[in-house]
Amino acid sequence: MKIPFHKPYSTENELVYVTDAIKRGEISGDNYYTNIVKSYMSCMLDNESVFMTTSGTHALEMASILIDLKDGDEVIMPSFTFPSTANAVMLRGAKPVFVEVYEDTLNLNIEDLQKKVSDKTKAIIPVHYAGVSCKMEEIMDIAKANNLFVLEDAAQGFNAKYNNQYLGTIGHFGCFSFHGTKNYSSGEGGALIINEVNEEIRQRADLILHKGTNRVKFNKGEVSKYTWVDIGSSYIPSDILMAYLYGQLKNLDEITQKRRYIYEYYSSALKDYDNKGIVKISKVPSYCESNYHIFYIIFNSKHEKNLAYKQLTEKGINVTTHFVPLHSSPMGQSLGYKDLDLSATQSISERMLRLPMFTDISDLELEYIVSNLNIVLKNIREL
Ligand SMILES: *Cc1c(COP(=O)(O)O)cnc(C)c1O
Repeated sequence: MKIPFHKPYSTENELVYVTDAIKRGEISGDNYYTNIVKSYMSCMLDNESVFMTTSGTHALEMASILIDLKDGDEVIMPSFTFPSTANAVMLRGAKPVFVEVYEDTLNLNIEDLQKKVSDKTKAIIPVHYAGVSCKMEEIMDIAKANNLFVLEDAAQGFNAKYNNQYLGTIGHFGCFSFHGTKNYSSGEGGALIINEVNEEIRQRADLILHKGTNRVKFNKGEVSKYTWVDIGSSYIPSDILMAYLYGQLKNLDEITQKRRYIYEYYSSALKDYDNKGIVKISKVPSYCESNYHIFYIIFNSKHEKNLAYKQLTEKGINVTTHFVPLHSSPMGQSLGYKDLDLSATQSISERMLRLPMFTDISDLELEYIVSNLNIVLKNIREL
């Protein structure tokens, strides 16, 4: 059997809405479907300040512009993340400062964060890995004590919660991704949520989203001509993409339930190995409600991981590693980092594998994966 790592999932809705968007003759940004999706998200997140973007990357870039990051500023983030988190900061001329993650959640390590706050620190970007929340209360306390912004990289965290609060609504800014590999997707897409900031920052978001023009004010009749008033870029998604996304959001609960089923299937099949210390598997801490984005296994050694990778791949099961840590990537090394500067992160990334996780995976496929994993893990126990 051949099982891919990921397959996009679509419901019966997407084509209907995409066709409708085309029929409406308004396929550029900020039209009918963009507004419906915005209202949906505003209502769900209880926040009026929702800005749909072309990607999670662009949401992070917008937030970095909005907090006026510049040369000399430092932004603290985990090394265990996607390059977009650091690029957003570097494109403003600021410096990413990498911290370790915990081995149980792969999320930002609070003690290391505390150590790395300096006079130059301007913001923290917690990354909610796998749709599991970072320790937000501790992070917000550190931010408050040091007068820092918090930009949540909730690219993987849409529809997940920390202590009953949606991820992306806790920090000053929240950034979501609707990339094809994420749970709820429009192929490419994202959103920026602005929470507690001053009104000036909030208003500026409209300008940056629209290429630095006051187009939103013009559309509302507040200015007679629209013109260039700030820096900005083309961060608005096409209405065709938003029509597709609306189809996904209409089935939000169904998608989440299906993924929860997969997650629990893996979890119950593997928890004995975890209890016996043979591997560590994905866990959801009590303060968190997951959206079941990723299921991972952390082996005790790189050698065991490589063995599992080889044996599962030979059986047609497409398991994958994740994140070359940013500090040990070529770009991170050019910033002066050495592999062992973040030894915990380095070690975790060398020992982890993600299992196939796509919304419509079948029971037959799950059984096949788990029975092969059983063989691999029994071998490892006997090593
Ligand atoms: C997917 C992802 C991004 C980037 O989102 P895009 O929509 O692909 O630009 C950023 N950060 C993390 C942690 C991600 O997983």
